Order: sequence, then structure tokens, then C-alpha cells
Amino acid sequence: MKVLKFGGTSVGSAERIQNVAKLIVEDGQSKVVVLSAMSGTTNSLLEISGYYRLQNAVGAADVINRLQQKYADTINQLYSNEQSKVDATKIIGEIFDYIRSFANHPFTIFEERCIVAQGELMSTNLMNIYLKEIGVEVALLPALEYMRIDKNAEPDFKYIEEHLKQQLEANPGKLIYVTQGFICRNAYGEIDNLQRGGSDYSASIVGAAVRAEEIQIWTDIDGMHNNDPRFVEGTKPVRNLNFDEAAELAYFGAKILHPTCITPARMYNIPVRLLNTMQPSAPGTMISNQTEAGKIKAVAAKDGITSIRIKSSRMLLAYGFMSQVFEVFDRYKTSVDLVTTSEVGVSLTIDNPKKLDEIVNDLKKFGSVTVDDDMVIIAVVGDMKWDNLGFESRVIEAMADVPVRMISYGGSNYNISMLVKKEDKIKALQNLSKNLF
Ligand code: ASP
Ligand code: MG
Repeated sequence: MKVLKFGGTSVGSAERIQNVAKLIVEDGQSKVVVLSAMSGTTNSLLEISGYYRLQNAVGAADVINRLQQKYADTINQLYSNEQSKVDATKIIGEIFDYIRSFANHPFTIFEERCIVAQGELMSTNLMNIYLKEIGVEVALLPALEYMRIDKNAEPDFKYIEEHLKQQLEANPGKLIYVTQGFICRNAYGEIDNLQRGGSDYSASIVGAAVRAEEIQIWTDIDGMHNNDPRFVEGTKPVRNLNFDEAAELAYFGAKILHPTCITPARMYNIPVRLLNTMQPSAPGTMISNQTEAGKIKAVAAKDGITSIRIKSSRMLLAYGFMSQVFEVFDRYKTSVDLVTTSEVGVSLTIDNPKKLDEIVNDLKKFGSVTVDDDMVIIAVVGDMKWDNLGFESRVIEAMADVPVRMISYGGSNYNISMLVKKEDKIKALQNLSKNLF
């Protein structure tokens, strides 16, 4: 069985919902379909919660009314059958009554989670009724009955597997099993969620729980490209990535899943395919445990990087220097990305300069400190095991006319990163594309 996840934009209007319905029934194969809330809904629900928190029931009511109107319009456009309209209006109406019931009550994060959960409940109900209308054998699997996180907010796999199995067995022989992304219960049985954007995570967990043959993440973009199409001409979609390459690229905001989100899929070695609802027949990007030996996959850049160099003769032959340096970053809860070292100095980068002044001040205790801001990390990702020959020279050669501030390789087999000035970013991306692809 496959597990398919559709994001908010993919179910963002009546027409989009109809497209998704067509897409999921076409091949006649039974599947689980995980849906996000319609785009904009989760934000509106958070806005409503914000008003409730301030005990401003009137402010909340304004947002609620607008949102309800949007759902009324969607219902009108989505269904051709009167009974479907009646059924959907009833369910959606009950959800809005529930949201209104929080007015003038004490309001905490618990209530907020209950309200925020309604978006996925609405989108899945709309889809369920639509699939019935067009004659599809469908069951709605309530995520709140099987999706659970433990006290550390980690998925409780044993519970999930058991309860999802029960849900599936209670509805045998359906073509489509629709379920909610994002929402779950926590260790105390309260309504909770997997954090913003959590539907991808839901799909990965569900896929792992049912040992899916494949997990598909459908969005409205075209998988992943081998370079940034805004700056480089002729970029191509990357067809295959292994889980490690995908994790390296995730940092660069490449249109790719967050590594924690694929962890469940990876655990059971289930391939994850990124596909485009606008171009359903395009092959997209496949993330799996397969490595294409010696192949360089993609070049990516991350802006807004600050580099910090600490030089000190105290570092020479001394132990404990590094840990003192890193302790400073720890103190200011600032994560360090690239690190390069020499005998008497260390350079590192951060992408969050909020505590830069404090950090630099504390580092000055250990040596002389230089800061460069407005830098860019350029990463080359692919199979670059250290015993493969030649890939470093191709990368370095591409940078022949670009000043490079740091180079980092060896942290993994799948990445070389370099730090350049913002002005040199486009040239670096273009040169690398020319030399590598
Ligand atoms: N609806 C949730 C959000 O907007 C979850 C998701 O879309 O993945 O964050
Ligand atoms: Mg989303």
C-alpha cells in the first residue's frame, strides 16, 4: 500500500480537492491519503486562538465568520449533489460551533491545540464526502484515534501501529483511506499536534506504521532541482537522492523534507517520493537508501551567514580550547554550522546572529576574533566518499575565480561546503553548475 500526502495548497480550493480526488483514484489501487488543512486555515485558527487568549471574543468572531464563509463557498463549489452539501454543511457547522464554544472561557495552550486541530478535520471530511459523491469506496480514519506522541513529543510507534491497524481492519476493502495530517494525541490523551508543517511527518509515520511500499509527498512544486533556478540557467530536477543527501540539502531550504520528518520512513527503508500536483506525471524526486556511486547531485546556497574566527596561540597543542569555544555558543543557544580549524585558529559559521555581540565578547577571552557577515554557504551534495577520486578538484577548480573564506569536507560522505561573500554567490553557483553537471 502507498501513503500519499497532500499539502494545504493541494487541497486549497474546491477545484483543487476535485483534482486530488481524481489523482488518487485513477490507478485503482488502495491507498492511505494524508491531508493538511486547506491553505490558510491553520493560520486563521491560530489567529482565532490569539483573540481568545486575549479574551477578545468579538475579534475571534470576525475571523471565524470569514473562515466559515470560505468553507460555505467551498462546499457550494465542491459538490453537485444536494445531499453532499447538506452532509458537509452539517459537519463543518458543528466544527464552527465547537470553535465558537471557546468564547469567554479561560484559554490556554490546551484549548489552542483543540482549535488548531479543526483544520485537518475539516479538509478530510470535505474530501471524504466528495469521494463518496463520486462513488469511491472510502473510509475516514480519525488520526486522533491512532496518532500519538509520548512524553518527549516523539511518536509512540507501538501505539500508532496497533491502533492504525485496528482502524484499517474495521474498514476492510476500501479504495481510499483518508486521514488527517498534523494532529495527534499526546501522552495524556489530550489533543495535540506534530508542529507546524507536521503533515509530512504524519505521512512518514503512517507510512512506517503500515510498512508502505512508498510514501508520496505531493506539493505544488517540481521536486528538487540540482541548482537554484533563480540564478542558474538549465537546472534539472534531481531524480534520486539517498536519505543522507536529502538530509544535507534540507539545511539549505531546498524544497525537501526536514530530516526528522523522514526518520520514520528511513527506519523501515520506505522510499519517499516528492511529486507535483500540477504535473502529476513528472517523475519528481525520489529519496531512498539507494546511492548513485560517485554522482554529484546538487548545489545549494544558504544566505545570511556570519562567520567568526578565533585565533589564539593558546590553542596550539592545548586540549579543552575547542570545548571552551563551543561552550560560548551553547550559552547563547546559537547553533554552529560550518567549522574549520588550523593549529592556531578556528573558524565557524552561524545563521542566527541575534546574540552575535555577546558571543564575540565572550570569545575575546580566548583570542583575537574576526567577524564577517553577509556570507553565503555553498554546498555540493552527492556521493563523495573520500576514496572516490577527483570530485574535490572539480569543485575547487570551479571556484578558481571566487574567493573562498572556508572549506569544509569530511563531516559526511555527502557534502562539501564552502563559504563565500554574498556578492560571489551567483558566480559560485554558476561555475559549479558548469563544472559538475
Ligand atoms: N496544517 C498544518 C500547518 O499549516 C500542518 C501542515 O500543513 O503540514 O502547519
Ligand atoms: Mg504544509
